[in-house]
Amino acid sequence: MNQEKLIEKSSQYLWLPFTQMKDYDADPLVIESGEGVYLRDIHGKEYLDGYSSLWLNVHGHRNEEINHAIKEQLDKIAHSTLLGASNIPSILLAEKLIDLSPEKLKRVFYSDSGATSVEIAIKMAYQYWQNIGRPEKQKFITLKNAYHGDTVGAISVGKVDIFHRVYKSLMFHSLVAPFPDVYHHPDLDDADEIRDRCLQELEEILREYHHEIAGMTVESLIQGAGGMNIMPKGYFKGVEDLCRKYNILLIVDEVATGFGRTGKMFAVEHEGVQPDIMTVAKGITGGYLPIAATLTTEEIYEAFYDDYNSLKTFFHGHSYTGNQLGCAAALANLEIYKRENLIEKTQEKISIIENLLKPLKQHPHVGDIRQLGMICGIELVIDKESKKPFEWEDRVGYHTTLKMRELGMLTRPIGDTIVFMPPLAANEEELREMVSIMSEAIEMTTKKYAG
Ligand code: PLP
Repeated sequence: MNQEKLIEKSSQYLWLPFTQMKDYDADPLVIESGEGVYLRDIHGKEYLDGYSSLWLNVHGHRNEEINHAIKEQLDKIAHSTLLGASNIPSILLAEKLIDLSPEKLKRVFYSDSGATSVEIAIKMAYQYWQNIGRPEKQKFITLKNAYHGDTVGAISVGKVDIFHRVYKSLMFHSLVAPFPDVYHHPDLDDADEIRDRCLQELEEILREYHHEIAGMTVESLIQGAGGMNIMPKGYFKGVEDLCRKYNILLIVDEVATGFGRTGKMFAVEHEGVQPDIMTVAKGITGGYLPIAATLTTEEIYEAFYDDYNSLKTFFHGHSYTGNQLGCAAALANLEIYKRENLIEKTQEKISIIENLLKPLKQHPHVGDIRQLGMICGIELVIDKESKKPFEWEDRVGYHTTLKMRELGMLTRPIGDTIVFMPPLAANEEELREMVSIMSEAIEMTTKKYAG
């Protein structure tokens, strides 16, 4: 089919996620293939994949080893979900995941996206308390600006304003504590002070409501879609301590941060946090197939263990739970981490990125650069001194990423924060090229605001 026809049909039939289709129709992009850190559209134009195809690609596209593992599994079986039956790749993967994750986690429940792994975590925590005779513990507490996915349960424990404005009456109510957002704090700028104040406010809420709270959901160390905001040192550990003190399950969302993104296999390792429930997805298959998992403790698992007709059974499961192809891809993915000592190698990339981003700080409209490992957010503001944002209608972040696309790199904005989250496999030259494109696009987009 010719290219124009494909574009016409994409506008005629598709409805894309999180996309105002009017924007898409004005400037459609149809990807045909990928190789390494490059994506190619149907016209043959190449783009650097500056946000790892929505934060999940690890080893680049068309990695031979993962492709081979998928093909090999395909020759055995693509998929079977039989209630009450398991399959070989899902068993082997579960063992690997438990091996890699924090000590307390002993059980794996599969699903197929980050949002579903969070839905499972919420239902699991809720039912756990019922199963052990504490049914009054039904509420959840979360942090301002949290993003845990887009399904109804996930947006209910999320606190991204847009979801609450649009889907309010579909959602259940969650308590909310302030996030220690150092750059945007209205009256403090000392990170330790902000951390302590936020922990204090969290404790006040927990003191009052702990007997009703089932769990606290937290993105691991950094809020992604809520603005790429990093917790100050010690805050995460402080949250864990409070959850223990007030007998609340700590549900950590590692969907975006897991599998080496932050320079550790899981971001919880930075502060030695031990979740009761942990959700993983995205990088689990290296970004090849939709697998997610909710990991939990033996104590929680045992609270569901009972006779066949028991109401203690966990009533959850999707058609593609534990999909063999996905699990085989994940196993091949994790094998590469081990063989190539990938987490170790990532440290060097992290320093390269840090050095490459440094000069951008001098730009008159770069308000803040936030980096946690291979996760970076570059926030653009109209005035650096006062941190005053650009007018919302100006869509400066959006126009910057459009310019980047023209220059050969794809990424997304979050408001006026440019997301930079390259595949872990990107080499120095590719990282340099990406930062150079980003820098040029920022310059071109913001120059009309000069002076
Ligand atoms: N949790 C976090 C922290 C995320 O960043 C995301 C997606 O970006 C999700 C959950 C949802 O994952 P998915 O898009 O796979 O449903």
